[in-house]
Amino acid sequence: MAESAPPTIADLKRMGLTGVLPLCRDCKHSGAVDFDALHLPDDTPFPLILRARRFRCEHCGSRDCQVTPDWRNYRASGMGR
Ligand SMILES: [Zn+2]
Repeated sequence: MAESAPPTIADLKRMGLTGVLPLCRDCKHSGAVDFDALHLPDDTPFPLILRARRFRCEHCGSRDCQVTPDWRNYRASGMGR
């Protein structure tokens, strides 16, 4: 376990996340995007989502978006599964 692979969409789903959260650096608008709406396979590593999909701010049209996993639905359920 020396290397830690980036989490895949499947990993994030298993953690209870439902999508990603692009945040516009220009106007700070953020709108959650469901994994389903990405139309990417579940084994897509998270960093690849940014390359596979060009996120564009739906508010101001800027492409300068920072994309993070949508942790808002994440429920910490202890260290177990
Ligand atoms: Zn914007």
